[in-house]
Amino acid sequence: MGTGKLKRTLSEEINESLVDSDFNLKGWVMHYRDHGGLIFIDLRDYAGIIQIVFDENISAESFNTAKKIKNEYVISVEGKVKIRPEGTENENLKTGKIEIEVKKIEILNECEVLPFQIEEESDINELIRLKYRYLDLRRKKMKDNLIFRSKFNFLIREFLNKNGFFDIETPFLTKSTPEGSRDFLVPSRLNNGNFYALPQSPQLFKQILMVSGFEKYYQIVRCFRDEDLRADRQPEFTQLDMEMSFIEQKDIMSLSEEMFALIFDKLLNIKLNLPIKIMDYDDAMESYGSDKPDIRFEMRLKTVSDIFGGSSLNVFRDCLSKNGVIKAICFKNGSNLLSRKDIDELVTVIKDFGGKGLAWTKVGKAEQRPKPAPFTNSSLLTVSAQGCKLEGGIAKFITEEEEKILIDRLEAENGDIIFYQADEKKVADTVLGRLRLYLAKKYNLIPESKFEFLWVVNFPLFEYSEEEKKIVAIHHPFTAPNEEDIKLLDTNPLMAKSQSYDLVLNGEEIGGGSIRIHKTELQEKIFEILSIKPEDARLKFGFLLDALSFGAPPHGGIAFGVDRVLMLVKNVDSIRDVIAFPKTQKAQCPLSDAPSHVRSEQLRELGIKLIEKDKLI
Ligand code: ASP
Repeated sequence: MGTGKLKRTLSEEINESLVDSDFNLKGWVMHYRDHGGLIFIDLRDYAGIIQIVFDENISAESFNTAKKIKNEYVISVEGKVKIRPEGTENENLKTGKIEIEVKKIEILNECEVLPFQIEEESDINELIRLKYRYLDLRRKKMKDNLIFRSKFNFLIREFLNKNGFFDIETPFLTKSTPEGSRDFLVPSRLNNGNFYALPQSPQLFKQILMVSGFEKYYQIVRCFRDEDLRADRQPEFTQLDMEMSFIEQKDIMSLSEEMFALIFDKLLNIKLNLPIKIMDYDDAMESYGSDKPDIRFEMRLKTVSDIFGGSSLNVFRDCLSKNGVIKAICFKNGSNLLSRKDIDELVTVIKDFGGKGLAWTKVGKAEQRPKPAPFTNSSLLTVSAQGCKLEGGIAKFITEEEEKILIDRLEAENGDIIFYQADEKKVADTVLGRLRLYLAKKYNLIPESKFEFLWVVNFPLFEYSEEEKKIVAIHHPFTAPNEEDIKLLDTNPLMAKSQSYDLVLNGEEIGGGSIRIHKTELQEKIFEILSIKPEDARLKFGFLLDALSFGAPPHGGIAFGVDRVLMLVKNVDSIRDVIAFPKTQKAQCPLSDAPSHVRSEQLRELGIKLIEKDKLI
């Protein structure tokens, strides 16, 4: 018996107040329970789940059709809303107090045996999930993530449109952009031997749009970078890209804050405390050993070089004589959390972070001084002002005076462990910064439900790349230096700071941007410092340089990684869980089987002949 007279209603629209009214529902069979004369089905549509009941005595014909049904069949039913018998309500369902007593049913489509059950939230191999992504996306968690994403995009568009921004598309088939990753190349059939590059970002085009006078541009846009993948990276990812003219850094920052406050308020019901904290790059590196500090917890890095000026410890002395630094972190309550074996294991962990070794001391109570180890010079175990003393590890090399200042500076207390790094500043910072994160994650020191935003500003304009043996741009070559640092470009460019800013959320960089150079002479000087020859600059970015010379307004912008923001906000482990059709770690798509071989005819048209990689010279 077919359905069709009644208009379709969604499960979420039906409630107790509609008892005895007739409705038509369409959707997928989620659970099927045959109780003899009664068959119960949980019917799922995009809005939710509702229980439908087939009673042999109400409609024998529907009941018999229902007998043929299996999970994930697509059905259309008509029936009456009934209150569920007492004791059979389902508190977990919005429609848990009611059910639909079916009078008519139509099977709209059947379903093969499923590779996995839709309702299972358990660990299903991700490759299988990606291969059958259409089934995976039927699962509540994945569906919720994508609906959340859709609302997120909508809010952004609404906010930016209201603020006078124009959504302008920029090309995918283009030239290499300046982000500095590897390009994805697309061979040109009409121009054999030439290649397009997929954009790593719309950077050049958005700047050109400013030259055109649009003043406020945005785009929620796909970007492509051919990098080795990590859990939070995809070869194609989505960026909220913005650019504005006649704008200052502080305006871009406050507009971004307002946008995030709106998103958090509307989608998560969380009120953000504005303005977002701002930290200097130098302070971030000094106190957190990272340019994207996770400030949800303390354990800051402290420089202690001055304390160990006359240290009896060779490693410390040598390091300082080579202009290195000694830094330390205090792991609160570490003595209770870490066994001696755990501490020894950290030495291996530290090596992965680029450290050479790991010095440590425990902090104990001065009154309860344990017997010194036989080889220990007991006169060096001393009582500090706070009634604490250092013990174990390198404690025997630390004098009473050093100990006192150290305990003070690190605000160390009984039960803590102090870890030390003596190395070049950059190495010591990075290693301790990573150790800080490692310990915090391993010993659950991070309040997971907290969201901590942070602006990091005043980045250096350049850094020296050991690998490339030259000065490289930290952001990209179009980033403007701080006005007052322009003079340093001739004398000490590595000291120059830039007008750039990164937005960090819970220790992840979620966006970054800068005020751009809008004058050709300054741009040329920057290229010179970066050892980019004028003819190379012309070849790569000639069209932007030309545009800048035709009345470019002062401008700046920012870009946010949409996938990464969603991943953090939805608190999922993998970026793939917020993308409808993501790629695997090997940049493959198990659903479509991309990338795949192409016909030799297609290659011929492109003028391409394949050679095995190891036969390449
Ligand atoms: N294009 C830059 C990036 O993708 C962002 C910006 O400077 O606006 O990192």
